Amino acid sequence: MLYQRSSQLFAEAEKVIPGGVNSPVRAFKGVGGTPIFAKSAKGAYVYDEDGNRYIDYINSWGPMILGHAFQPVVDAVIEKTKLGTSFGMPTELETKIADLAVSMVPNIDKIRFVSSGTEACMSAIRLARGFTKKDKIIKFAGCYHGHSDSFLIQAGSGASTFGTPNSPGVTQGTAKDTLLANYNNIENVKSLFESNKNEIAAIIIEPVAGNMGCIPPKEGFLEDLRQVCDINNALLIFDEVMTGFRLAKGGAQELFSVEADIVCFGKVIGGGLPVGAFAARNEIMNYLSPLGPVYQAGTLSGNPLAMAAGFAMLQSLNDDKNVFNRLENKTAYLHKGIQDVLSKNSIDFTINRVGSMISVHFDKNPVYDFNTAKNGDNDTFKKFFHGLLKEGVYIAPSAYETWFITDALTYEDLDFTIQAIDKVSKQL
Ligand SMILES: *Cc1c(COP(=O)(O)O)cnc(C)c1O
Repeated sequence: MLYQRSSQLFAEAEKVIPGGVNSPVRAFKGVGGTPIFAKSAKGAYVYDEDGNRYIDYINSWGPMILGHAFQPVVDAVIEKTKLGTSFGMPTELETKIADLAVSMVPNIDKIRFVSSGTEACMSAIRLARGFTKKDKIIKFAGCYHGHSDSFLIQAGSGASTFGTPNSPGVTQGTAKDTLLANYNNIENVKSLFESNKNEIAAIIIEPVAGNMGCIPPKEGFLEDLRQVCDINNALLIFDEVMTGFRLAKGGAQELFSVEADIVCFGKVIGGGLPVGAFAARNEIMNYLSPLGPVYQAGTLSGNPLAMAAGFAMLQSLNDDKNVFNRLENKTAYLHKGIQDVLSKNSIDFTINRVGSMISVHFDKNPVYDFNTAKNGDNDTFKKFFHGLLKEGVYIAPSAYETWFITDALTYEDLDFTIQAIDKVSKQL
């Protein structure tokens, strides 16, 4: 494949944008080489500026669960655009999407829309702190909750890829209120509660971790967190920015039958436009301004184009009784295919998967937290990534990312992918 135009565009971008990108993981720093510049996308495919086509396993990092340029979303955005793109006044559509989200997700009465997952998580912990009148939060190493200060302590995703788990610019004062535990380690969590009696406002967790590869919660782990929170008067926050409207209509709460106190959304809920949201039962949500004392706002929050895209997306997911089954089946098929060819080619690997989130780790031992995720062989991953790219298969340019399966993928696409992986494995 030729990457001439992408290389040129990247050189130009680097002059005026730090690192040539507006979000670090796009820069290919974790795998080396020059990022490819996207020109267009449709269904399961993305096309670059040089005219190459790729089967896309990133899907804008999750939102395109029904494929790129999904017609109902495209139509809804075009129609809305003609009516004006922002008012800074309430609109009927905001209530419609809120109603729909509340009907799909268990255990929430009210929802507030923001413009990114980062904002959703940032606002959720402020609300939790205001509501409980306590300052500290527990987060898990390798979990990513966006880039606000409180979360940039051993965060996953790009923060892991670049080996700067603790960003300069986050003050000691902020960092001391974020307590760290290991994913899937309940003893860790319990001892933090013991040593910080009556100081912990909330636990925030990705109920299925997706920013250190895909890491499922161990049997009983989420239930245990629920119990520890109840005993200690702390709130349980599920960051479902990745899992929401992906693992099931009602997200991880539905899949695992565990109730969270506050739930954060992003990615799928915006159908590819900038949307985030956080939701909870009335008692908690009524603590938000203008009803309550916890302040939170946004000039473009509930933006009509964003709400039109999100509403069309949620409606499609809500109306299609089989979509989550199809996603499960397609991903299971891919899972088995990859497992077979990697085994056949004597590669050491572990595959983790929950529903349509899947990750391949180049390590034969179980991967269940950030430490075990770091054991993967990164040199093998780099070769794997570039090999697949050459074959026309685009996975995330970092070993710490989940693959996002889209319903637009056909079984032919999956077979093509498995064959490409077979070919690439022979060169690892
Ligand atoms: C992507 C992500 C975020 C951040 O969302 P942005 O829209 O990128 O700000 C937060 N939490 C999780 C679990 C995510 O995957």
